[in-house]
Amino acid sequence: MTQKSYTRNNCRLCRETAPEVVWNLAPTPIAGDYISKNELNQTQEIYPLNVALCRRCGCVFILDIVEPEILYKNFKYVSSSSPDLAAHFREYANSILKNFPLPPQARIVDVGSNDGLFLREFQKKGLCVLGVDPAREIAQRATESGIETLGQYYDLTLARQLRNKRGPANIITSNNTMANVDNMTAFIQGIRELLTEDGIFVFETGYLLKLVQNMVFDNIYHEHLSYFSVKSLDLFFKNNQMELIDASCVSTKGGSLRGVAQLQGGRRRRLPSVDEMIRTENEFGLDTSEVFVDLKKRLDTQKNKLLTLIGNLKKGHKTIAGYGASHSVTTFLYYFGLGEELEFLFDDNTAKFNAFTPGHHIPILSSQEIYQKKPDYIIILAWRFQEMIIQRHQLYLDQGGQFIIPLPQMKIVCKQGALV
Ligand SMILES: [Zn+2]
Repeated sequence: MTQKSYTRNNCRLCRETAPEVVWNLAPTPIAGDYISKNELNQTQEIYPLNVALCRRCGCVFILDIVEPEILYKNFKYVSSSSPDLAAHFREYANSILKNFPLPPQARIVDVGSNDGLFLREFQKKGLCVLGVDPAREIAQRATESGIETLGQYYDLTLARQLRNKRGPANIITSNNTMANVDNMTAFIQGIRELLTEDGIFVFETGYLLKLVQNMVFDNIYHEHLSYFSVKSLDLFFKNNQMELIDASCVSTKGGSLRGVAQLQGGRRRRLPSVDEMIRTENEFGLDTSEVFVDLKKRLDTQKNKLLTLIGNLKKGHKTIAGYGASHSVTTFLYYFGLGEELEFLFDDNTAKFNAFTPGHHIPILSSQEIYQKKPDYIIILAWRFQEMIIQRHQLYLDQGGQFIIPLPQMKIVCKQGALV
């Protein structure tokens, strides 16, 4: 390990020492470090990607932590670029407003608010909104677009300042952010500090059970430090003078967890959903290393099928490209060992056009260039969006192209339909 990273030796949530290493994934560069043409001569450092399990609380986390200034050096992701998030955030905001009636001019703070996509839904309903996000440029653009956003890390000091200057928040939300926080104790202290006495903290984060069940292993990358279960978070909130009062599964990001917490002793009753989900996790054995052995086995079966297929296609001199250029694609390419196999990747995000993938430096083109390059096969690396991609590129199939879907079951899709 370099000075720019360190290896964690205790659980992020409960501090239990000696976590058990349950899975060594292929080491990768920083998953979001897509580079431009003039950066091609720079070597990109590769970091270990080892997953550990806390035997005490069941939290799963990566052991090798890259310093934030390296990890977020090239951070460009904006929520609005994710194909399924806008509709999801609308439904999510409406469900919060329906289930938790708020006083007039209630105050909401979103931690990790990105471009303000979520807060916009609350602003429309007349709430007083404030975003906090350390990605300064994105925060500034959000502010310019009408969602006031502070470009800094959320911590106890900021929470105190906000409380003193603007008053406490009735709701604090945090979506797809908690997994990126190394010091969770400081984070939750900041949440507690800013909430009104009867306020709620609502969050969404990747859900470990769905990661395992849905094989969404490519959500594992260095920015995601933790993979939470309800059991682990329930204990964590208890240990930090808060109480998890509701939990549910949502479909975003391949399977996420939505939770609601209040200050300990708050007026709301804990709903049965929390214990029901913990029971399901226990029955599944989510806090045992066996689930990761099984996940690896299932993944490797599909990986071997795909590599055999690619070997055969190459013997027949077929051209093969990929579709997708996200953080997940980096984990995918390294784990499946596809770095040398693909001529191009196609993507729909204009920010990625003419960039190159982290480490392997595969060129990325606009998906419209499929029709000029005409590869014989395109592997849908962004496999969670396979239906949308196939629908959008029916013309590619009509012209004789074929899609290869790698997961959850490898299959080939051509004009006539799916071939297993
Ligand atoms: Zn733990």
